[in-house]
Amino acid sequence: MPSSALYPQEIPNLIGGKEVLAKGGGLVPVLNPHDGSEIAHLTRSQAVDVADAVAAARAAQKDWAATPAVRRGHILHQICNLLEERTEDLAKIVALEAGKRMPDARGEAGGAIQCARFFAGEGQRLFGRTMTSGVPNKYAMTVRQPCGVAGLIIAANTPAPNFAWKVFPALICGNAVVLKTAEDTPISSWFMAKICEEAGLPAGVLNLVHGLGAEAGQALVDHEDVDVVSFTGSTRVGRMIAETCGRQLKKVSLELGGKNPLVVCDDADLDAAVTWTCASAYSNAGQRCASGSRIIVFASVYDTFVEKLVAATKAQTLGITDGGNLGPVINKRQLDTMVSCVARAKAAGARVLVGGEQATEGVPATGFYMQPTVLDGVDPQAEISRTELFGPVCVVYKVSDFDAALILANDSPYGLTACIHTKSFDRAMQFTYGVQAGATVVNGGTFGSEPHMPFGGVKASGNGTREPGTEALDVYTELKDVYLNITPDRL
Ligand code: NAD
Repeated sequence: MPSSALYPQEIPNLIGGKEVLAKGGGLVPVLNPHDGSEIAHLTRSQAVDVADAVAAARAAQKDWAATPAVRRGHILHQICNLLEERTEDLAKIVALEAGKRMPDARGEAGGAIQCARFFAGEGQRLFGRTMTSGVPNKYAMTVRQPCGVAGLIIAANTPAPNFAWKVFPALICGNAVVLKTAEDTPISSWFMAKICEEAGLPAGVLNLVHGLGAEAGQALVDHEDVDVVSFTGSTRVGRMIAETCGRQLKKVSLELGGKNPLVVCDDADLDAAVTWTCASAYSNAGQRCASGSRIIVFASVYDTFVEKLVAATKAQTLGITDGGNLGPVINKRQLDTMVSCVARAKAAGARVLVGGEQATEGVPATGFYMQPTVLDGVDPQAEISRTELFGPVCVVYKVSDFDAALILANDSPYGLTACIHTKSFDRAMQFTYGVQAGATVVNGGTFGSEPHMPFGGVKASGNGTREPGTEALDVYTELKDVYLNITPDRL
């Protein structure tokens, strides 16, 4: 079946189990990043549509919370079964709307299902704690209760996992959800939500609103009947959301940007380090919060490493066929942002060793392809050292030794992920403990977190919460202390 036959041309909201277009009637084109062609339109929701979705969620939440968590888990398992049956269709949609190779899109669909399975299983646990009490004949424990209505907002970079990482933990905990989808990739969210419905998720438990961030997203965060907000996106927008939630004293989880360091020591396997640098900087066209964009290399191996990295960068093949390994970025705005930032760095004295422009050779000129780019001669305080570009652009820095590498790795507003390449156990341990990041890797890439593990950042990369893993249960539940006095007359 062609991808375009898998979805409606106007992607509707899903509110209270019904597909509806936004009341204002506006539409926003959805473009294929590979060639800029229009593939659909999303309905442009406003505050009134968001309010309808929140009301539907509120109405459905009580019964969903009263459904035993094990039973909620059965429904999530059924969702996984259907997602497994339709993986190919989901992958086709992801490939089309996000501009990905099919093998990558299949991998992402598989990652989303893995995450859903993990949280389906949590229905059989959803653990609290039993503790001791300081008082005789008194028992103390904690139980988890749903927050209520969860307002979820996601980015476009890996649309299927982004949906899964937020929606499934929120649901297993007994919340009803309003998801504001990413405006560049609304179709996969619509497809996954329809599967949830087909699998038996009661109407109103999962509601989708499509639209622009400043309209639908902001309205969801502002809505007073939303109990918890979970956001994946830029630090700029995360700060605004934190302010609103702070004013309302609303629970909020923020998964934000990164400018992640990858350190190459003098004892590293340089070929492996180059392979992992390319994977960190260029896979998913650099559109990972966990992508490696600051490559910090010991002086004694700098020239050799840079030569190999430039050669490996030149060998990257652009396109979305199975042979290509670097797709487009998500939209023209992102492309323009990174091209102009590289141009400013160059004007300030940086050397562009390879790339630096929009790519048009061998790929459609109307697509949003960025050449894989390596710069050096950049000041660590320069804009391009401190700003997340979310594209296939990295800067290489020369350092004298381990201490200098660690200082530079930590000299960033962000603290999401970090990686070191070394054969020294001592260096590896010192780095993983000393680097300011929520996730660290030895001899690999800056990415690679797994759905059963907690992910999140320090400094401007987040607000201290961790999702997914069992730690996501802390985001989507409230802990309640329960004290049982078994013989109160004797106390
Ligand atoms: P973005 O912040 O512009 O948008 C993300 C989402 O927020 C979109 O759905 C958008 O519509 C919505 N939004 C925009 N303005 C809003 C507002 N005022 N109120 C409410 N919602 C609003 O980010 P982007 O450029 O689309 O995504 C890339 C960013 O996401 C990068 O910074 C990347 O590092 C980050 N990201 C982080 C993680 C993580 O787990 N830490 C994962 C993926 C992406």
